Amino acid sequence: MSNPGEFLQACAAGRVWLYCDACGEPKNFNSVRQIDTIGNPIYWGPDPWWHDTRVFECPDCKTEQRSLIELRAEKEEK
Ligand SMILES: [Zn+2]
Repeated sequence: MSNPGEFLQACAAGRVWLYCDACGEPKNFNSVRQIDTIGNPIYWGPDPWWHDTRVFECPDCKTEQRSLIELRAEKEEK
């Protein structure tokens, strides 16, 4: 997983998640409102987008949250 194309594909496939502390559960990357991206200052490898901290608004509790990206092998249905 070392190019942006794969990252975008994973997003499109619903396999990228962000964790909401307030809800205590992961939220699909596609369903949250993205507010900001904070790069990891100590990571200089080939796939920085996996190490960014995402600032987002949770669609369920409407709070602003920060989370690292979480990749799931398969989409989980609830
Ligand atoms: Zn939430």
